[in-house]
Amino acid sequence: MRCTQEGYGARLRPMQNISSGSGSPSPVRTPAPLGFGRIFSEHMLTLQWSQGRGWHDVQIKPRAALAVDPAASALHYGQSMFEGLKAFRGADGVIRVFRMDAHLQRMHTGAARLAMPAIDLELTRASLLEHVRRDASWVPRERGQSLYIRPLLFATEGFLGVRPANTYTLLVLLSPVGAYYEKGLEALRIWVEQEHVRTTPGGLGAVKTGANYAASLLAAARAKSNGFDQVLWLDAVHRKNLEEVGTMNFFVRIGDEVVTPPLGDTILAGITRDSSLTLMRSWGVRVSERVISIEELIAASRSGALQEAFGTGTAAVIAPVGELGIGDLRLRLPAAPGEIASRLYNTITGIQYGELPDRYNWLTAICP
Ligand SMILES: *Cc1c(COP(=O)(O)O)cnc(C)c1O
Repeated sequence: MRCTQEGYGARLRPMQNISSGSGSPSPVRTPAPLGFGRIFSEHMLTLQWSQGRGWHDVQIKPRAALAVDPAASALHYGQSMFEGLKAFRGADGVIRVFRMDAHLQRMHTGAARLAMPAIDLELTRASLLEHVRRDASWVPRERGQSLYIRPLLFATEGFLGVRPANTYTLLVLLSPVGAYYEKGLEALRIWVEQEHVRTTPGGLGAVKTGANYAASLLAAARAKSNGFDQVLWLDAVHRKNLEEVGTMNFFVRIGDEVVTPPLGDTILAGITRDSSLTLMRSWGVRVSERVISIEELIAASRSGALQEAFGTGTAAVIAPVGELGIGDLRLRLPAAPGEIASRLYNTITGIQYGELPDRYNWLTAICP
């Protein structure tokens, strides 16, 4: 596989100067267990945007606290959004970023909904690759571990008036993360949330923004205190159609049909969802993106047609569901993970670590 030189000083500097704090690579420090989002690499990437100037001032500098105006609109009015993608080190030593362009494109689209400036796809891509390359020693070496890449775009203007801000920062953090499953795919217990909703038609559900996460925290915490791992969100209007599971897209297999709710403004267009749909279609699995109600799910469970249920997302890849709680009702699924969930998990992780062919050009390999 060809690796990309993109982001190397020579290609980037004519566009923007990257200033950097310390240049010397640090030794790999990956204390076990890494967990998720607790440990950060040495550097952070920042880009600034201001009205009239556009994107400028690209810096890769030591990770440190930010100086943010206390009136910054991101803090007061939530004008902020993020992304989450991963880089993997294969047994061959090559570092591969999974579906980078799809993630950057999603950020580009989401920014418009929040009246934020579009990210510069070329510049962001090149600087992000350079950032990962500089902190390459932070990409863990064990199968199952990876480097989580967290871009964040937020409004920095110190102004209390309510309108889109005129200055923004795009920041990227890198965090070595552990294997999500230490002992095989573990099945989740899911609480079907009937009181709170994650988002509404016309709202921000299709954007990866902190506001949606803030709306979800209380229901998730309550579900946890009742012995469940996550919630299944229902639509805000009818309170009956399945939407997402926690912060993952949701799939069920009923008989030989795999169903996932259709994209729209209440569902985040997950890239793992898209990868899963692509793979299942290539295997000849019957997949439908269609509305599915909680009644249909209960009926399928009663008739024995409900074969499997799982969530998809970058962090876990595939999260099989073992049980659903709906009020007093408990639906138990056949042995989780099911056949499709396992096959998707093995195939996607196989591609990510460079063990299976990259048929769909999902990987960007970084030159050592
Ligand atoms: C990030 C996210 C997902 C999963 O998206 P991936 O691109 O697969 O990581 C699903 N739902 C919500 C609400 C999310 O924020």
